[in-house]
Amino acid sequence: MPQLIPQVNTAFTERFSTPELTIFSPGRMNFIGEHTDYNLGFVLPASIDKGIAVAVAASKDGKTSIYSVDKDELLEVDITQPLKRSDIGWANYVLGVVDQLQKAGAQLSNFNCVFGGNIPIGSGLSSSAALENGIGFALNELFGLGLDRMKLLHLSQLAEHEFVGVKCGIMDQFSSMMGKKDQAMKLDCRSLDYGFYPVDFGDYQIVLLNSNVEHNLASSEYNVRRSQCEEGIEVMQRKFPGIKSLRDVEMHMLNTCKDELTEVVYRRCKYIIEENQRLNDFVAALEQKDFTQCGQILFTAHEAMRTEYEITCPEIDVLVDLAKQQPGILGSRMMGGGFGGCTLNLVHKTNMDAFVEVMTREYKTKTGIALSAYRIAVGDGVHRVNQ
Ligand code: ADP
Ligand code: MG
Repeated sequence: MPQLIPQVNTAFTERFSTPELTIFSPGRMNFIGEHTDYNLGFVLPASIDKGIAVAVAASKDGKTSIYSVDKDELLEVDITQPLKRSDIGWANYVLGVVDQLQKAGAQLSNFNCVFGGNIPIGSGLSSSAALENGIGFALNELFGLGLDRMKLLHLSQLAEHEFVGVKCGIMDQFSSMMGKKDQAMKLDCRSLDYGFYPVDFGDYQIVLLNSNVEHNLASSEYNVRRSQCEEGIEVMQRKFPGIKSLRDVEMHMLNTCKDELTEVVYRRCKYIIEENQRLNDFVAALEQKDFTQCGQILFTAHEAMRTEYEITCPEIDVLVDLAKQQPGILGSRMMGGGFGGCTLNLVHKTNMDAFVEVMTREYKTKTGIALSAYRIAVGDGVHRVNQ
């Protein structure tokens, strides 16, 4: 991120004056635990060293001006008047946070803001949460609102639900706000309890490969998966009335109910139960610094997403299959909700350049699509930066 902060600060100075403060708000990755959140299980995310920078200062001309560096678009609005949804997509993430802060009782004056990022937009690294958290954190500092991180991240989620209209879970905002350098967070999606686990992969490096495909199946199939899990719960509750979510189900309970479940619902439930177990196994392997085992779990998780939960797509499967054949690879799996986005890869540092080169070439040959590679480190959650 070396250029991002000066770039955003310079853009602010050119348009307005000197920013009063600048915030870095990271995107996030998830080591393991996909589709476990709405089943009230575990996820293992981390904030990354790429994200969105937000520069702000109070405005003295009776209006709020917000400039997106990446979209080269300016929004002008008087936030002391009732807020309306904007035709500009990104504006709703920003206004949604302003709206939530006001609903929480914050007295906001007009302000000037410039923001820009160095994470891919809409590829599952949570640029949206980075943007919301960056705006919320910046305004909290600028106006001395005194809101804590937990409150701010919940406001970000509500902004996305209500102003943008996307019913996202809490993981994205949580990991971008609460993350710590070189630590993964094990988040319990039922209680929101969380704990940190060091992620130092030694000679291995995390690299995300963006397939640059996004199949529009993602949202419809997401809803289908959710209802299949609910169907499984309803059936199993007849035998085990105490069950509230798949979090409460163990494999032997599922197997007891196998005959009453459709084959598909059985597979979906099996995936979720085992994904939670894989996550716990991954954490145990991390603690023992058994990176080979971590990598194996990633491969297994991918296979389960492909065959049991059926949320991968041909391009993503090509990426994981190709990665498996490369020297220095420990593990690879699709990251995120499915049907496109990025794969997460653990690769030996000495093989990294060749890995990216070969993967880029082979992926292009097999799919005709250009690959983008992001070498990632686990960085701190949202924080102020020196201007
Ligand atoms: P992601 O997986 O990256 O969170 P989303 O679809 O949830 O994908 O959010 C992407 C949206 O967030 C974009 O369409 C845009 O409105 C907004 N956004 C994110 N990053 C930026 C940016 N750097 N500049 C402008 N808008 C951004
Ligand atoms: Mg998002």
